[in-house]
Amino acid sequence: MAVRFFKWLVEIILLLTAGWLLLNTSFIQSASQTAISFWQQATPTATSRKRTSSHSSSALSLKIPLKSSVVSQQETTTSTPTESNVAGKQLAATYYYHFAADVPTSVKSVFTAAVAVYNQTGIVHLTPGEGTAKQNQITFYVYQKKMPENQQQQQLIELGAGGPEIIQRVGWNAFTVNHARAGLNVTYHQAIQRSVAIHELGHALGLDHSSRLDSVMYPVDQGKTVLTPADRKGLREIYP
Ligand SMILES: [Zn+2]
Repeated sequence: MAVRFFKWLVEIILLLTAGWLLLNTSFIQSASQTAISFWQQATPTATSRKRTSSHSSSALSLKIPLKSSVVSQQETTTSTPTESNVAGKQLAATYYYHFAADVPTSVKSVFTAAVAVYNQTGIVHLTPGEGTAKQNQITFYVYQKKMPENQQQQQLIELGAGGPEIIQRVGWNAFTVNHARAGLNVTYHQAIQRSVAIHELGHALGLDHSSRLDSVMYPVDQGKTVLTPADRKGLREIYP
């Protein structure tokens, strides 16, 4: 009886030990698998943040559908596009603006109103002044460009021009600034409008054209003087 009980006990112990070993081994395996898959997830996520390439995100969707659906949701709530030369540049949100010598008072007031629209966002801060070489600057100017007769008949009139100019210095004294310009084509009275100044100042700050009619960055003037949430989102991408 005692021997039988002892045998039974040994069998139980052996079974338990084998079971424990089996469980433990599978735990280690699953742990190392988690670590590997975590690493695989982490790497493409980091790349997809830096690059908006559709290739890396489609590879990602196979691994973690949840995260990639979040990414695609962000992509569908489209922000106003940004100019390619401001992408990835760490620009300060503060700008110093001044007017070229030949800018008439009437045009100055239109530009000043546009400045107020961007300052109201709280995303950028535009201050009157020249600024130094290492500070962001905006020059407001006027120009005269007469459109060919056939284009005028089609209402294809250039109302303004504007854009960023990125200056990067490397080395111990490294800095990145935007010395931007925004101008109105004063050949046409339609150009001396707040909507045109807001559009050109948007270019100066780094916004590109939007395909949305309600955006101030729509390429054809719609008289829009209010930034849409998408416009603000685009700005925030440049000035986080
Ligand atoms: Zn434009």
